[in-house]
Amino acid sequence: MKVEHDGDDEVAFADLRHERVADHFHDECGIFGVHGHPEASHITYLGLYALQHRGQESAGIVSTNGHEQFVHRAMGLVVDIFQESTLEKLKGRHAIGHVRYSTSGGSQMRNAQPFYASTDGGLVAIAHNGNLVNAGAVRAELESRGSIFNSSSDSEVIVHLLARSREATLEDRLIDALSRVKGAFSLVVLTSDALIAARDPNGFRPLMLGRLDGGWVVASETCALDLIGAEYERDLDAGEVVVIRRGRLRSVRPFPPVAKPTFCIFEYIYFARPDSNLQRHNVYQFRKELGRVLAREYPVSADMVVPVLDSGTAAALGYAEESGIPYETALIRNHYVRRTFIEPSQSIRHFGVKVKHNPVKGMLEGKRIVVVEDSIVRGTTLIKIVDMLRKAGAREVHVRVSSPPTIGPCHYGIDTPTREELLATHHSVEEIRALIGADTLGYLSLTGLRETGQQFKQGYCDACFSNEYPVPVDLDDPVPQLSLFRTVDEPREDSDSNSM
Ligand code: AMP
Repeated sequence: MKVEHDGDDEVAFADLRHERVADHFHDECGIFGVHGHPEASHITYLGLYALQHRGQESAGIVSTNGHEQFVHRAMGLVVDIFQESTLEKLKGRHAIGHVRYSTSGGSQMRNAQPFYASTDGGLVAIAHNGNLVNAGAVRAELESRGSIFNSSSDSEVIVHLLARSREATLEDRLIDALSRVKGAFSLVVLTSDALIAARDPNGFRPLMLGRLDGGWVVASETCALDLIGAEYERDLDAGEVVVIRRGRLRSVRPFPPVAKPTFCIFEYIYFARPDSNLQRHNVYQFRKELGRVLAREYPVSADMVVPVLDSGTAAALGYAEESGIPYETALIRNHYVRRTFIEPSQSIRHFGVKVKHNPVKGMLEGKRIVVVEDSIVRGTTLIKIVDMLRKAGAREVHVRVSSPPTIGPCHYGIDTPTREELLATHHSVEEIRALIGADTLGYLSLTGLRETGQQFKQGYCDACFSNEYPVPVDLDDPVPQLSLFRTVDEPREDSDSNSM
C-alpha cells in the first residue's frame, strides 16, 4: 500500500486514555455511492456536500478504477477537505463516500469512514450509517480470536466479520457479516468490481437508489440526488441488499423478515433535510402536518407564531395555518456559526444560543408569541430563547414542540445524550414549562405523532418518545476499552490519503 500524504515519519505514542463511551454510541452519518460514472469522485463529493447536515466532523471518499483503489479521509467539512486536486487523484468510475458526526471532542481521525481493508477475497471499503447494538460483544469475541481494531467505531466490526467469513464471494461474506450484527445499518460497500448497498431488516436509516447518465447512485437522502441531477429510482427495502456490477443491479433479501419495518421517525421530525423525500414522503410536508396536529392539540390565543429556525420552520407554518395566527420569523438565525468559535473571556449571558439566534426586537414588544420547536433534549435552547424573547419585550411566550417528550436515548444512530440527561425523563411537562420560563408548554402527543405517521407510512421506530425499542438493546454490551496509538503530528492526524 502506498501512502501518499506528505510529512515526516509518523510520530506516535501509546495513548493510554480510554476512548470515551460516548464516542462508541453517538454518531450520525450520511452515505453516498456511485457506480459507473466518469466523474465518480466529483459526484460523490457533491453528494456528500448535500448530506453535510448528517455529519460535520469528518468525511471521506474511496474510489476505484477496477485495478487500484484510492482513498482520502479527513476531519472537517466536505468543502474544506476536498480540493479539485484531491478529487483528480480519486480516480475511477466507482466511488463511495461518508460524512460523520460524533459528539466526542478532539480529533477522531481513526473513526473517519469509509473504512477500507485488504482481505483474501480482495479489497473492500465500507461506509456505514446507523448504530449496531451488539457491536461490543461481537468485537470482544473477534478480539479474543486475534482481530486487531484500529478505531472505536461499531462499523469496524463489519469489516472484521467480512474479512473472517468463509463464504466464497465478497458479497456473500458481507451478507454473512451482516447476519451476525444487530441494530441499524444502511451501508454502501465498494469492491474492485461492484457497488453493494444494504439496509438492515428493520430499515431504521434511509437509503435510496438513483440513476445518473446510465450509471447508478445510492444516497442517504434524495436531496443528494437532486443536487447531482440524478433521477430517483426507489428506496431500498428494509432488509434488502443490492449488488451493482457492470451496470446491472441484482437484489437479494438474505435476512429473516421482521414483522414490520421500523423507519426512524426522528429523521422526519428533525434529522433529514426538509427538501428530502424519505420512503417517498416529503419531510417538509410531514413536519408541517405535525404542526397542524399540534395546533389542534394545544391551541392558544396569540399574536404570532415564531419558529426556532431552521428545525421548527415547517411545523410552525403548519401551526400558523391551522390556528390562523400569523407566522413571523421574529427570531433570526446566523447561518455562519461553526461548531466551535472563540468565546470572549468575560462570559456573555446565553452566548452559545445568542450567537445562533437573535430576536427581532421591534416586532416582539408587547406581543403574545407562540414559539415552535421540533424537540426538547436537555432544554438548553428553549430556556435561553424564552428569556431572550421576554427581554425583547414579548408579553406572553407559549412554547409548542412538534414531537412528544424525548424520554429515551437512541441506540440506532441518532445522537442523543444519556437517559439521565434527557430533561423529560425526570421532569413533568409542568416542571419543564416552569424551567424554561414559558407561560404555557404543549408537546405533540405520541398518539398525534403516530396517527400522523400512519398517514405517511406504516412502520416507525419512535423509541425516543415511547421507550419501545424494536431491536432489544443490551445495555451491558461491552464498550470497547481501547488503548490506541494517537498520532501527535497534527496534519497526519487530520487526514490520510492513500492509494491501496
Ligand atoms: P436542547 O437545547 O438540548 O433542548 O436541544 C434541542 C435542540 O436541539 C432543538 O433545537 C433541536 O432541533 C436540536 N436537536 C434535537 N435532536 C438533535 C440531535 N440529535 N442532534 C443535534 N441537534 C438536535
